[in-house]
Amino acid sequence: MSGPQRGATGQQGEGADRHGTTPGSPGAAPDSFRTMWRDLAGIGRHPSSGGYRRFAWTAADTDCRAWFEEQARARGLAYEVDRNGNQWAWLGDPAAGDAVVTGSHLDSVPDGGAFDGPLGVVSAFAAVDELRARGADPNKPLAVVNFGDEEGARFGLACVGSRLTAGQLDVERARELRDADGVSLPQAMERAGRDPEAIGPDPERLARVGAFVELHVEQGRALDLGGHPVGAASAIWPHGRWRFDFRGEANHAGTTRLEDRRDPMLTYATTVLAARKKARLAGALATFGKVAVEPGGVNAIASLVRGWLDSRAADEQTLAEVVTAIEQTARERGQRDGVTVDVVRESFTPVVEFAHELRDTVAALAGRGRPVPVLPTGAGHDAGILSARVPTAMLFVRNPTGVSHAPAEHAAEDDCAAGVTALADVLEGLACR
Ligand SMILES: [Zn+2]
Repeated sequence: MSGPQRGATGQQGEGADRHGTTPGSPGAAPDSFRTMWRDLAGIGRHPSSGGYRRFAWTAADTDCRAWFEEQARARGLAYEVDRNGNQWAWLGDPAAGDAVVTGSHLDSVPDGGAFDGPLGVVSAFAAVDELRARGADPNKPLAVVNFGDEEGARFGLACVGSRLTAGQLDVERARELRDADGVSLPQAMERAGRDPEAIGPDPERLARVGAFVELHVEQGRALDLGGHPVGAASAIWPHGRWRFDFRGEANHAGTTRLEDRRDPMLTYATTVLAARKKARLAGALATFGKVAVEPGGVNAIASLVRGWLDSRAADEQTLAEVVTAIEQTARERGQRDGVTVDVVRESFTPVVEFAHELRDTVAALAGRGRPVPVLPTGAGHDAGILSARVPTAMLFVRNPTGVSHAPAEHAAEDDCAAGVTALADVLEGLACR
């Protein structure tokens, strides 16, 4: 998908007195937004799927990171990479403290959309441009950040960059993360020119941050259904990943009688259907989106089916109940099938209630006095990780398809511009008054 294109409406408000523009209308930044979007659009885009494959510490990721550094330097912002590989671009002196930081991530899920992550980083630079065009005079340091490895597509754990920085990921565990080819996180970082010995908590850095605001494409249709281009986040649902190992017995698909089989695929299939049902009944979400089969022959009964469950709910108790119910169905069905079932929780992120005061301030600033709608999300974000250490808020930009983590993810040009204006308003309100 191409990014927002230059449109007639985007030009009309330019150069106009910003005080005369309506809330959310395009300000001075659309041109810089379009240019950045265009420059980033080709990186890591797969020609056949049209989706993005920007996995942490790969060539595509390195290109995205080079783009970030270019943007920082082109604006005269002080560029630095922290010990965990997160990129920062500073306007003002970071040591002054109480910094207002905005940004998101540039990596993607397999065949992800163009907006999840990059919209927040591009909008952050565009908002800095907008502030400069307004002649705004920050009295606090401002920074744009790109958190590394947010999606966890390569090493199986989301938000590695922000988790390490916030001290929410054990360094030894991080060192043991491996991709599908057996490459460890330290090896991957080293190949990309980083020092993996340096990784770890970074409390001094976080202590300089007074507020973090992440702008993100909405990963649902609440804003679209409500007719709003921009919203703010109230909470992030608790969520986690569980690995289900179904072990049976490999055998010949042509000579093994049905009643003699120990086929883990049957147990797996039943578990997938159960996950859907349990989630639906609880108003939660449950997804098996990744599966590995051994030996993986068309004419062989599987010996092992390994499926990964992603589940989310409005509260932690509901989530625990849903996962327990899915696990129970898996074990019951496994007994019938002669299949053993092992379940390992690979990650868990508790519920995040964003700081109410900052949330309300951001919602009011983003709507220029008429607060934008505030909504919860089922998606995890770096903002959720940082919220344990730093006052944190999120802005969402309308996604008319509601699709995310897929090429159909979209935001209209005018809505992207409204997001930049809202973010600039928020930064100005937080850092310039
Ligand atoms: Zn994201």
